[in-house]
Amino acid sequence: MKLAVLPGDGIGPEITDATLRVLDAADRKFSLGLRTERHPVGLAAYEKHGTTFPEATRTACRSADGIVLGPLSQVDYAPREKGGINVSAEMRSGLDLYANIRPARSRDGLQHWGRTPMDLVIVRENTEGFYADRSMHLGIGEFMPTPDLALSVRKITAQGSRRIAEAAFRMAAERRRKVTAVHKINVLKVTEALFLREVREVAKQHPEVKYEEQLVDSMAALLVRDAARFDVVVTTNMYGDILSDEATELSGSLGLGGAINAGDRYCMAQAQHGSAPDIAGKGIANPTSLVLSAAMLLDWLGARHGKDALVKAARAIDAAVDRVLASPKSRTRDLGGALGTADFAGAIAKELLSS
Ligand code: NAD
Repeated sequence: MKLAVLPGDGIGPEITDATLRVLDAADRKFSLGLRTERHPVGLAAYEKHGTTFPEATRTACRSADGIVLGPLSQVDYAPREKGGINVSAEMRSGLDLYANIRPARSRDGLQHWGRTPMDLVIVRENTEGFYADRSMHLGIGEFMPTPDLALSVRKITAQGSRRIAEAAFRMAAERRRKVTAVHKINVLKVTEALFLREVREVAKQHPEVKYEEQLVDSMAALLVRDAARFDVVVTTNMYGDILSDEATELSGSLGLGGAINAGDRYCMAQAQHGSAPDIAGKGIANPTSLVLSAAMLLDWLGARHGKDALVKAARAIDAAVDRVLASPKSRTRDLGGALGTADFAGAIAKELLSS
């Protein structure tokens, strides 16, 4: 199993090292036959190759079984025409990674900030919506007819809505059998109607799954008030981006949520948070998000290739992270602990190997 590993910017290299240490332990324990190969992206790649996304890295990703992408400092990139390519966006549209799966789960003994504990998954459409830089075949969906008029186009397709709904219902069937579709049909009457038309069609094919709908603004409040009522939440690109950060932070910390970007052929593990330039290079970042993202990638690969050892390894990483986080002494600083990134990864690897 070959994994292309792209460390990224800011804290990316540190949390990638930590993640590879955990993957190495999982590989040894479960004899997974993992091969990991690092490839440059981001500001380091720009300095050397004049682009944040070198062609050799793209080729390596296409030929790998899975991809691990560290966070990127896109805000600091040069314009696209000068080589500042948004690697994350390019991967999501180029490899058709249409489902961004973002779980948010509170843990016993770890403070959560919402009023109730939670165990939910946000299934976010990843290739269209308001994301103007990646939703068009040619050009971008934002333009400026005059210096004082700027317009943005939102793209919603039946196919995009249907396949994300199918991903959500498949997931709910394996969990607590409930799907909540989040929308804003009271304002966006055309695009949201198309999205909901497709989700409702898919809901009809899954009578075993309870289906409900929620407006996005009240959803933001309900995540604080009563997140325990949600199981799988399906929504369009931007609502999913924002609500998943909210849910993960409410579950304890933005640093705790794993995520994958999955399509029918490719899957990419990617932390939910950004490159945290304020703490980069200090060895204090919490690597949990990328570690759990890598575990989700193993789970996806296990299901795709029918390899039970990968699924078992994913569950074991998840459980090891929970056990390490259970002790206040073995947490990173963002969670009130004193462990550095490398020591925290070492504790997970040790826990994994000894379980
Ligand atoms: P951020 O998520 O990088 O940081 C927000 C806050 O959370 C900061 O205080 C940071 O120190 C903290 N934080 C984030 N991850 C942490 C971790 N693992 N451990 C401990 N603390 C952590 O968001 P930002 O500061 O708004 O953005 C910084 C850069 O990241 C920008 O260039 C932005 O474009 C980029 N970004 C990238 C992605 C991505 O690659 N998927 C996502 C969001 C933002």
